[in-house]
Amino acid sequence: MRARRLAMQLRDLRTVACALPDALVLLDRDGRIRWCNPAAGGLLGIAWPRERGAPVAARFGEGEIGAWLRAGESEIDDIASPVAAGVRLQLSLIPYGDQRRLLIARDISRVTHLEQVRRDFVANVSHELRTPLTVIHGYLELLDPEDVPALAPVLSEMRAQSQRMRQIVEDLLELSRLEMQQQLSEERVEMAPMLETLRREAEALSQGRHRVVLEDQARVDLLGSPKDLHSAFSNLVSNAVRYTPDGGSVTIRWRRTSSGAEYSVSDSGYGIPAEHLSRLTERFYRVSSSRSRASGGTGLGLSIVKHVLNLHDAELRIESESGKGSTFTCVFGASRLLDQEHGA
Ligand code: ADP
Repeated sequence: MRARRLAMQLRDLRTVACALPDALVLLDRDGRIRWCNPAAGGLLGIAWPRERGAPVAARFGEGEIGAWLRAGESEIDDIASPVAAGVRLQLSLIPYGDQRRLLIARDISRVTHLEQVRRDFVANVSHELRTPLTVIHGYLELLDPEDVPALAPVLSEMRAQSQRMRQIVEDLLELSRLEMQQQLSEERVEMAPMLETLRREAEALSQGRHRVVLEDQARVDLLGSPKDLHSAFSNLVSNAVRYTPDGGSVTIRWRRTSSGAEYSVSDSGYGIPAEHLSRLTERFYRVSSSRSRASGGTGLGLSIVKHVLNLHDAELRIESESGKGSTFTCVFGASRLLDQEHGA
């Protein structure tokens, strides 16, 4: 009686697993296929029962999925299905029981498509706004406040706002470009002149209101896109100056670590309360909108920084204490470093 009930429950479980739209592949401790559901055939091309006992990583060969399985990481997003045309997959590897693992593949084509629609929409809207804004801004520049003194304050406000809009549109376009970019130009980024430029930019922005310090201890160059890295590094410098009251200090640092090198910008400014830290790189996320606006911010700077760093396999680390100051650090791995050329 009990055995029959157990057998029925087991059958139910199998039926449910077989009905799932996600691919399920049970792997033994040696990474061989123990069982899989029909969706594993449709999404991953695993033929059941013919492939029972096949070593799963070797089965996927040298492709992206094979490489991911060999690396033993737990999740990978947005990968092409090896069998279903146009289908994008999210794969996860979940340990269970005695050193066994469950491989799950989920069809995320719809989400990927919506992401693409969102990206295209933002890029198109920004692009469409660019020309009319340039025209309006151009005419505003032509108007002379001395001709109509009564309107002088209005005119200056209109100019400031149209400049702000232009900056937002430029930043959105920059973000779209970074998002669509899959690969980087792999050039030598000479850090010594780059750091010197950043120091000069900080001083120009600060206009003597802060103490600007540059510490170049790494004496090493980076591999990547000079333009994009400059944009990311200078965003951090500009934030440090803008969010530090007069009399404070801003330190730009480039140093080696045991696993690579770090570029950081520290300030003695307003700091950021801990609850905001995890959301700072979201578009338009600001701790204080009024302070951001007053200092000429668009709310997009740190999103740009994050995208540039992603493209360089680097990470952004943020440490901050409210009222004491902040340190934003870009962490680069050793594979991104190049020894400085002699005489450079
Ligand atoms: P914004 O253009 O508003 O500066 P960012 O994306 O560069 O946009 O930064 C997002 C928010 O993070 C800012 O609005 C500000 O609240 C906070 N922030 C960034 N850098 C600093 C800093 N160095 N010190 C204090 N707050 C900062």
